[in-house]
Amino acid sequence: MNENIAQKMARPAILNLKPYSSAREEFTGNEGIFLDANESPYNKPLNRYPDPFQQKLRERIAELKQVEKGNIILGNGSDETIDMLFRTFCEPGKDKVLSIAPTYGMYKVSAGINGVEYETVLLNEDFSLPVNSILEKATDNTKLLFLCSPNNPTGNRFDDEAMAELLKNFPGLVVVDEAYVDFSGQGSWVNALDKYPNLVVLQTLSKAWGLAAIRLGIAFASADIIQLMMKVKPPYNVNTLTQEKALQSLSEPQITTERVQQIISERDALMQSLEEIPTIKKVFASDANFFLIRLDDPGAMYNHLLQQGIIARDRSREPLCEGCLRISVGTPAQNKYLLEAIKNYSSVKTEDVPASNWTTVADYLVTPERKAVKERKTKETDIRVEINLDGNAKANISTGLGFYDHMLEQIARHSGCDLSIEVKGDLHIDEHHTLEDTAIALGEAFAEALGNKMGIERYGFALPMDDCAAMVLLDFGGRPELVWKARFKREKVGELPTEMFEHIFKSFAVGARCNLYIKAKGKNEHHKIEAIFKALARAIRMAVKREAGSDFLPSTKGML
Ligand SMILES: *Cc1c(COP(=O)(O)O)cnc(C)c1O
Repeated sequence: MNENIAQKMARPAILNLKPYSSAREEFTGNEGIFLDANESPYNKPLNRYPDPFQQKLRERIAELKQVEKGNIILGNGSDETIDMLFRTFCEPGKDKVLSIAPTYGMYKVSAGINGVEYETVLLNEDFSLPVNSILEKATDNTKLLFLCSPNNPTGNRFDDEAMAELLKNFPGLVVVDEAYVDFSGQGSWVNALDKYPNLVVLQTLSKAWGLAAIRLGIAFASADIIQLMMKVKPPYNVNTLTQEKALQSLSEPQITTERVQQIISERDALMQSLEEIPTIKKVFASDANFFLIRLDDPGAMYNHLLQQGIIARDRSREPLCEGCLRISVGTPAQNKYLLEAIKNYSSVKTEDVPASNWTTVADYLVTPERKAVKERKTKETDIRVEINLDGNAKANISTGLGFYDHMLEQIARHSGCDLSIEVKGDLHIDEHHTLEDTAIALGEAFAEALGNKMGIERYGFALPMDDCAAMVLLDFGGRPELVWKARFKREKVGELPTEMFEHIFKSFAVGARCNLYIKAKGKNEHHKIEAIFKALARAIRMAVKREAGSDFLPSTKGML
């Protein structure tokens, strides 16, 4: 390793290549009338080509990772940086690359596309690195060694000493793919670049940073390696929108740190719960945001989960992964739902599940309706509540108490739910039963319409209203509980006795099985109670919001 290993490894054609020189490269100023790149003068700012060298973004990454900007090249996802490595260092039909098995599938595909032979060495049974076998397999033409750590799909991070031994003794470049390093709680190889001139580290914004859609992959290596790769990369490979979005996220890294912490603690809790389930033969240790579980019949479990709307990854045909499903860690709500679904699994065999039940995944992504009708008849009251959580804030309320109607209308209007409430109560005696029973029925209607799709996340809303301020915190996954911090001095507002207010919300909490924390301050009693109802409605609006994509728990077909 005394000579420049980058040049020694590079394809001769690349060493001699004079790269394309773009307009943005030849003139780098920011000001002037740009008539050099055949761009349109209209549609600012997207009319201009992006910075081909992503200077600002690379500076920010350099600062975050404590390396030099010259040690960084960016790609349209890690997949592009992998492809750049092949195109820079591997001569088609002549050179080879080496990797481990099982591992990430893209190295092999990229090798195939580039006409480069791909060889693998099986990991040890415990998924550790077989250092000697790897070194024995290396030849003069073996240009790259791919080591994914933490490894996908096995989830483990490789031992530092084994890695160091390979870095010292492997004759070509060692590519350490750290797509999941943030979840490992351990350091990155990025900080060892000075020590190992043949080291290339790959990272990505697709996993811990939650930005798979923007496609940003990062390769770290010696300046010599980076300069060669720069010759090969397409001039404008990272678009302006991606550069801007990445810069914004990288300017608030604490958000990612918190999310990663949450995912790690969810992972550990989830794995611990799964350990106790007898159908699961083994839960494999993980340094990533996913883990393997081993079962006697992984196909049956896969189908069972699919029927609950959960999509896992069947990795049972990968070497050393016999019987294994790979599961990514989701939100607390999703993980709770997953755990329930796995617990409900009752020795369904693959052949028992009709194919039509799971061939169309789209089937399971159908958005189920969230409606409920609750009828409640006692000697004192006769109540009918209809609710649609995904409505248009339509209200049709008739309780016989004008002011109560007005308050319940606020719930529909400000939560976005459709709400119809019809009550015949014993108002000739007093308001007590009507107020209480209606609140219970309303709570029950919410609980039913939500089904079991809600998690334990907490939602809150604070609302100022004229001279008043109300704050409502709501947790639909909680026990029926009310903390009430509002005091009323007048005896009545409208025809409602103020002493009943606390009781109304307590009844709602019981019906909906939710935790409610309500605090309100202010002089005008009418405004104060109205602010509480509105704040409750706003908190409900947040709590029942269904998000498209990964945060949304899909249909629980067959379960509800
Ligand atoms: C997900 C993943 C990546 C990310 O690839 P991008 O193209 O950056 O989205 C890279 N390596 C491994 C091992 C992965 O699992």
